[in-house]
Amino acid sequence: MSIEATMLERCENKCELCGAETALKPFAVAPHTQITVDHAIMLCDTCSGQIENPETMDVNHWRCLNDSMWSQVAPVQVMAWRQLKRLSSEGWAQDLVDMMYLEEEVAKWAELGLDENVEKPRDVNGVELKKGDDVTVIKDLPIKGSSQVIKQGTVIRGISVSADDPKHVQGKANGQAMYVIAEYCRKK
Ligand SMILES: [Zn+2]
Repeated sequence: MSIEATMLERCENKCELCGAETALKPFAVAPHTQITVDHAIMLCDTCSGQIENPETMDVNHWRCLNDSMWSQVAPVQVMAWRQLKRLSSEGWAQDLVDMMYLEEEVAKWAELGLDENVEKPRDVNGVELKKGDDVTVIKDLPIKGSSQVIKQGTVIRGISVSADDPKHVQGKANGQAMYVIAEYCRKK
């Protein structure tokens, strides 16, 4: 049986966090990046979208964790715990996280993914770079695999950042997509 089929059987075709019976996709629970039965969970688009873009988080959606936090599946426990921690300014979420019990190994995994432990992309001055920022390149940078350079002073507008790769930011300058080292940028 494929990994995905095994996971669909485990979750009974329901989102492992909110229980939605809709299209599901496997989601690797960081720091794992590979989809494996032990390190991934099946999520609906609503859950995965809000996990990937915390600024779009709808607090009430996550009341579903009230049920899923009791899952026997370790990666589900990890994700539920992390989401409750992110919401811990809400009294109900703090109450739930206090009730959760995680095996030592699972607790260690869960803590690895907390926002404060995640490295953030920072510019030359140590200022955190966020999605949508405009940055100026502070020195000529060779473009990998070509003889071209990104000239010092080039402005990259509306960058995107990735939690998986905090050393780089992505964006467009002169209509060309580029991928540059965060510390060679200055936030505008
Ligand atoms: Zn869901």
